[in-house]
Amino acid sequence: MLKVVKFGGSSMADAVQYQKVRAIVRSDEARRVVVVSAAGKRFSEDHKLTDLLYLCHAHLKYGVSCDSVFAMITQRYLDIQKELGLHVDLTPELEALREKMRHGISEDELVSRGEYFSAKLMADYLGYPFIDASKWLKFNFDATVNKEESYQALKLLVGDGCAVIPGFYGAMPDGSIKTFSRGGSDITGALAAAALDADVYENWTDVSGILMADPRIVENPKPIARITYTELRELSYIGAQVLHEATIFPVREKNIPLNIRNTNEPENPGTVICEAFENDTADDSQRFITGIAGKKGYSIITIAKNGFSSTAGVQRQILEIFENHGINVEYTPNGIDSLSLVVQSQGLGDSLYSVLGELQKAFEPDSLDVTEGISIVAAVGRKMAFRPGISGKIFAALGSQGINIRMISQGPQEVNIIVGVDDRDFAKTVRVLYDSFVK
Ligand code: ASP
Repeated sequence: MLKVVKFGGSSMADAVQYQKVRAIVRSDEARRVVVVSAAGKRFSEDHKLTDLLYLCHAHLKYGVSCDSVFAMITQRYLDIQKELGLHVDLTPELEALREKMRHGISEDELVSRGEYFSAKLMADYLGYPFIDASKWLKFNFDATVNKEESYQALKLLVGDGCAVIPGFYGAMPDGSIKTFSRGGSDITGALAAAALDADVYENWTDVSGILMADPRIVENPKPIARITYTELRELSYIGAQVLHEATIFPVREKNIPLNIRNTNEPENPGTVICEAFENDTADDSQRFITGIAGKKGYSIITIAKNGFSSTAGVQRQILEIFENHGINVEYTPNGIDSLSLVVQSQGLGDSLYSVLGELQKAFEPDSLDVTEGISIVAAVGRKMAFRPGISGKIFAALGSQGINIRMISQGPQEVNIIVGVDDRDFAKTVRVLYDSFVK
């Protein structure tokens, strides 16, 4: 049995958190491979180490002294080392890093050191070997991960043993350090789990799993005990941010369950994410909706012309215009002779008028409208598939509260129903759906 366990920044923030991590790791001998983030915030006004490292790099770039910021970084790690009475001596490496910074260091390499030093300390504290991520996590030149080589390398390095691995970065084919996008230690953990064919990938953070709705909108939302990869993808795409977006792909490919847990509440089972669940718990089977998420700031462009539906290639030509401007069209609800294109307003940027001009010229439509200030809210649930009446219930609930639905879309897998509402109705829509289906 092997559990790959990843601890996020808040779990690595100070010596007290390290003690919790060690207790968790020691309580289960299957927890042999540990992936760590850089030290996160200890309190709300505190700084994440990674942010400080980015700040250092910005100072270097503009030729401004970063001594005081670097001193803060060094102090965080030396405090942890001292408080835990660790033997590993980071001073020579910190000095070598400072020297390298004087002669030029890439941003990726500098910011990756947050994870590197975290892992050095944690390896010493747990008595596990340290495995540098640059020794196994290999990127291709196009910045995708070379899974085959990476997996093979990690298998060889870990064998049947234990390891502590820094998250967030790996090596390019020329050996230089490359990081993932922010929050990327989640991906390192998933890749390590996939490489080693782990039985489970535990992602330890500071919340007891995924909640059914955003707690800033719904008071005390219920936690989600079990969710499928597909459902999670739907929810996180549209706004629920618990894991880095790319985390699920490596574990899903190998059918490894992902368990989100809370370092500060280790007895809580958290959320389990799997491909499918064979038996539903009593709680699951009563509930049609697994979660609700949404995002503000969308625009809907609607183009209508008599005879559109019987003209081949129209949709492709319309989409091509958006594509040529690098605009991602997220949903395309359509009528018989009309098509709506739902895009993030931010992505539309300055291109809106060019796009409208090109649509006008190419199709001479009967009407061409833009609606801005739209929010997208998705109700997601594997139980909704092929079950009549759910969408009717959703629309009735929203209608009875005076919420005007501007757009409706349902994916072919029927695990989501998406509504577009005015931005001012956003929070109310989430609350109405939650109250009608969950409470
Ligand atoms: N330390 C990195 C960040 O703050 C990566 C991570 O924690 O996952 O983005």
